[in-house]
Amino acid sequence: MNNEIFEKAEKEIEIAQHGIKNISDNEKLEQWRIKYFGRKGLILSFTQKIGGLPEELRPLAGRKINEWKNYLNSLYENKKKEIISSSAIKETFHHGSMPLYTYPGKEPDYAYLHPLTIVTKNMVDIFKKMGFGIHTGPEIETDYYNFSALNTPENHPARDMWDTLYLDYHEKILLRTHTSPVQIRIMKKIKPPFRIIAVGKCFRRDAFDSSHSPVFHQMEGLMVGHGINFAHLKGILIYFLKELFDSEIKVRFLPAYFPFTEPSAEISISCVICKGKGCSTCGGSGWLEILGAGMVHPEVFGNISRKDPAYSPDKITGFAFGMGIERIAMLKYGIDDIRHFYNNDIRFISQFG
Ligand SMILES: [Zn+2]
Repeated sequence: MNNEIFEKAEKEIEIAQHGIKNISDNEKLEQWRIKYFGRKGLILSFTQKIGGLPEELRPLAGRKINEWKNYLNSLYENKKKEIISSSAIKETFHHGSMPLYTYPGKEPDYAYLHPLTIVTKNMVDIFKKMGFGIHTGPEIETDYYNFSALNTPENHPARDMWDTLYLDYHEKILLRTHTSPVQIRIMKKIKPPFRIIAVGKCFRRDAFDSSHSPVFHQMEGLMVGHGINFAHLKGILIYFLKELFDSEIKVRFLPAYFPFTEPSAEISISCVICKGKGCSTCGGSGWLEILGAGMVHPEVFGNISRKDPAYSPDKITGFAFGMGIERIAMLKYGIDDIRHFYNNDIRFISQFG
C-alpha cells in the first residue's frame, strides 16, 4: 500500500518529464507548473498524504517529495530558459509571423552630395570644357595678397577691421575676404598665357542672416595672354551662364567699380524664377546680379611685372571674374535662406542628389 503511493508518484513524475518535452510556449508551461506545483497539484497532494503514512516512513517520504520537487523544478526552469532563447531567435529571424528571409529588405541610407558641392562641380565642369585649369590657394592670407597686390588702396573701407576678419591686425594677417588673392599667387608662379579658375572659402565680418554668412564660397577666374580683350570676357561668361542656368536666359553687363579691374562690369541674368517679368526674388526688376568681372587693372600687372617682365602691362592683358557660389545655388534650387546650407539638416541636404 505504502509502496504503491511511491510507485504512483514515480509514474506521475515520469509523465511530467515526458509532458514538458513537447511544451514550446509559456502558456502551456504555466499549465504544466500548476498541474505539479499548484494548490491541487501533485507535490502538495503527496505532501498531504505524508500524514497518513506510518511514522517510520515519513522521513523517507519527506526526502522523496523534496527530490521530486527539485527535479520538477529543474525541468521547469530549463524549459523556461529554452522558451526565452527560442523566442529571441524568432525575433531575430522573424518579422511577426514572417520568417525574415522572405521579408522585404530594408533600403540602406544613401550618402548625399551637399548642394554647394553639386553646384561647384557644375561650374567647374563648364570651365574645364573651355580649357581652364583649377587652382586653390590658402584661406589665411596676408594683407598684401588680399588687398595691396589687388590695387586696393590703404584707405579702402574693405580693409576696415569691421569688414575683415584679422587673425593679427598688426601683422596684417587675415582670413581672405575673396578668392582674388589666388590670382596673384598664380601669376607669381606661372607665365602667361593661361586661363584658370579658383574655388574656395572666403570670410567676412558679416552677421549671419538669411542672405549673409561670415563664411561663404567664391569662384574666381583669370585669363591672361596677348590680345585678351573684353569680347573674350563676354563670350566666355555668357557661355558659362547659359550652360549653368538655361540657354534661354538673357545676360546684361552694367558698368561697375572694382579696384583690381578696369573697366569693370556687374553681370546680371534675366530672372530664372519669373523669366524677367518681375518677382520677389529679383526685387521686381526681372534681373539677378550674378557676378563681377573686368579687365585686369594695369596696376595689378605692374606689381607682378616688377619681378617678372612677362607680366608687363604693355605686353599682356587679361580679364578676371568672381562670383558667390551660395547665391548661384540659391537661385538654381530656389533656396530662400543661406543658413540652410550650413545647418546640416539631412532633410534639406538629401533633396539635391
Ligand atoms: Zn524674378
